[in-house]
Amino acid sequence: MLSGCRRALPAALRLAVRGWAGGGGRRRVSTSWSPVGAAFDAKQQRSRLTGQSTGLFGVPELSSPEGFQEAQEKALQETEQLVQKACTTPPGPQIVMIFDQLSDALCRVADLADFVKIAHPDFAFREAAEETCRNIGTMVEKLNTNIELCQSLKQLLADKEVMDSLDPETRQVAELFMFDFEISGIHLDEEKRKRAVDLNVKILDLCNQFLIGAHLPNKIDKQILPEHIRYNFAVEGNYIQITGLHADCSDDLVREAAYKIFLYPNAEQLRCLEELLTSRNHLAQLVGYNTFAHRALQGTMARTPEKVMQFLETLSDRLFQRTLKDFEMMEGMKMKLNPQNSKLMPWDHPYYSGVLRAERYNIEPSLYCPFFSLGACMEGLNFLFNQLLGISLYAEQTEKGELWCEDVRKLAVVHENEGLLGYIYCDFYQRADKPHQDCHFTIRGGRLRKDGEYQLPVVVLMLSLPHSTKNSPTLLTPGMMENLFHEMGHAMHSMLGRTRYQHVTGTRCPTDFAEVPSILMEYFASDYRVVNQFARHFQTGQSLPKSMVSRLCESKKICAAADMQLQVFYAVLDQLYHGEHPLKRSTTEILKETQEKFYGLPYVPKTAWQLRFSHLVGYGAKYYSYLMSRAIASMVWKQCFVQNPFDRAMGERYRREMLAHGGGKEPMLMVQGMLQKSPSVEDFVDALVSDLDQDFETFFMDSE
Ligand SMILES: [Zn+2]
Repeated sequence: MLSGCRRALPAALRLAVRGWAGGGGRRRVSTSWSPVGAAFDAKQQRSRLTGQSTGLFGVPELSSPEGFQEAQEKALQETEQLVQKACTTPPGPQIVMIFDQLSDALCRVADLADFVKIAHPDFAFREAAEETCRNIGTMVEKLNTNIELCQSLKQLLADKEVMDSLDPETRQVAELFMFDFEISGIHLDEEKRKRAVDLNVKILDLCNQFLIGAHLPNKIDKQILPEHIRYNFAVEGNYIQITGLHADCSDDLVREAAYKIFLYPNAEQLRCLEELLTSRNHLAQLVGYNTFAHRALQGTMARTPEKVMQFLETLSDRLFQRTLKDFEMMEGMKMKLNPQNSKLMPWDHPYYSGVLRAERYNIEPSLYCPFFSLGACMEGLNFLFNQLLGISLYAEQTEKGELWCEDVRKLAVVHENEGLLGYIYCDFYQRADKPHQDCHFTIRGGRLRKDGEYQLPVVVLMLSLPHSTKNSPTLLTPGMMENLFHEMGHAMHSMLGRTRYQHVTGTRCPTDFAEVPSILMEYFASDYRVVNQFARHFQTGQSLPKSMVSRLCESKKICAAADMQLQVFYAVLDQLYHGEHPLKRSTTEILKETQEKFYGLPYVPKTAWQLRFSHLVGYGAKYYSYLMSRAIASMVWKQCFVQNPFDRAMGERYRREMLAHGGGKEPMLMVQGMLQKSPSVEDFVDALVSDLDQDFETFFMDSE
C-alpha cells in the first residue's frame, strides 16, 4: 500500500527552487493555455522547437548535463553568504526567513536533481544530477553541524519575548529547523556530538545495505524443486533464482516454494537489520529520546508511540471477526480448488482474495478501460476542482529544452480570482528505464519572497500509463484512474499549500498527514456522481452504467478486512522494532509473535519476512501513517463531501483548514478545523471499519 506512492522524505534541510522563468505573475492571462482533456487525448503536442533552449524546468543552466555543476556552485555560494547573514542577525523573524532562504537555495537545485537522477532518459543528465545530489547532501550535513548557525536559531528560540511575538507559522518553522539540528547532536558536548555524527553515517550505510539486501534474489539447487514447477522461475545452470513471492500465481505449490525460499533468512541481512535498529536506538537516546519511535513521531498527528499502538490495537480488535470471516472465505475457495491441501497459508492471501473478487463481481479491467480515456479523466479532475475550489487546469505550451521527454505535459493551475497558482508537469507515459512507481515530486516549493511576490510551486506527477495507439487514446484501468486521482491529490496539496516558508510547502508535512489529501481523492474517484461527470466510452460516447461503478466499489470490500489486518501487523512490527531496546527477543521471534497476534495466518518456520520489509528504512516507526491518513480521509469524506461531492463551501473549508497550511500548522489542529471536533482513536477506527461494510442494497438495486 505504501509503495504505491513516493513522497520526498524529510531531509535535514529541505529543498526548493527559485529564479524560475515565468513564475510570480498573478492574474496572468496566457494565450498558450489550452483545454486540459484535449491535450492528453491528442497526439504529441510538441514544445516550441525554435529559439534558445530554456533549460530543464526553465532553469537556464540546465540546458546541458554540465549545467548541474554550475547550478550547484551558485547554490553553494549563495549558501555561504546566507550562513554569514544568519550568524550576524539579531534574534527575530528575519532569522527564520534567512534559514528558509538558505534551505530554498539548496533545494532549488537538489530537489530538481533528485527527480532528474531518477527520471531523465539521458544517462549523462542522470549522472550529473546524482553527483549534484551528493554534493549538496554533503553541504547539508556540514550545515547541520555548524554550531554558529545553530546558535543563532537557539538564541531566537530562547528569547521568549520575541518568540511570543511571532505568528504561529513562523514559530512552527523555527522549531522544525531546530529539530533538524537536534538529530545531528549539535546541542551535545564535543564527544557526544562526534558519536552522533558517526552514528548518522553508519545508519545511512546500513539503510543502503538493507535496501539492497531486501531485493536480492535467493538461489537454490534446482534439484530441490519438483520438476514440473521449475519453469516458473529463472534457471541458472544448476540453480534456480527466486526473485519474489509470485503472489498472484495460480499454482499453490509455486507460491509456497517462492514464499519459503525467498523469505529464507540470510544471516548477513539479519545482522544488518539488527545493527540498523540498534544504531537508530542509540542515536535517538544520545539526542535525548527514549526510543527511535519517540524521536520519529515528534510533530506527527499521532505524536507518541503509545498513541500509535493504541490506534493499531483498537483497529485490530475491531477487525478481528471480519478478518476471520475473510480467512474462512479464502479457505473455502482453496478447498474448492485444491481439496487435498486446503489449509490457508500466508502465501494464499493475495491470490485467493483476488479469485473471490473476480468470482463475485465481474470487474474485468478491459470492460472499464474504454470509459476511462486519459483525456476524459483529466477533464473529470478539472471539473471536480472547478466545482469544489474554483480552480481550472490548462495545458501550457512548453519551451525548447524545458522538458526531459517530449510526451510530458505541463499544466497551469489557475484560480478564478487569484490567477496562476503553480505548475504541474505530467510525466504520465511509460518509457524504458523509467521507474514503475506512481510518484509526486516537489520541484520547487511555494514561499513568500522578500520582494512580496509569491514563489509559485512546481511539481512533477509521474505515472506509467500506456501510450495511445492508432485506434485508441490512452485508456486507464480503474486502478490507474484511482492512482491518477490519488497523485493529483498530492499535487493539489502542493498547489494550495500557500505557506510563507518553503520549508513547510504543500506535502512537506508530517508523514501521517501527508496521505490525507491523496486518499480523499480516492473517495471522489469511487463516487458515481463524480465518475459520471467524465467516464464516457471513447468510441460511442456512452456513459459508464451506475451498476458498473457500484460493482467496482463493492468488489474492493471483498477480503478488505484481512488486507487491512495485514497492514496492521506490518505497522505493529515496525513499532516494536523501533521501540524499547535492547529488543526482548530476536527480530524473527518478534515477527512470529506479532504475526500470530495481529494477523492470524501461521508463521512459517525458517522464514524471515522482516528481511524483505524495505519500508523499515524510509518509514522507520511511521509505517502506520497510511492507515491513519486513510482514517482521516474517510472521516472528512463522510462528514463533509458524501452529501454533495461538488459542495463549493466545503471545498473552500477544506482548502482553508487543511490544504492551505502545508506543514506549517500542527496536523491535529488542521483536522479539528476541518471536522469541527477533535476525533478520538475510536473515531479513527470507526471510520476505517465502516468503510468495509458491504452496501448490498445499492448493489442489487443498481444491477436490476
Ligand atoms: Zn500518496
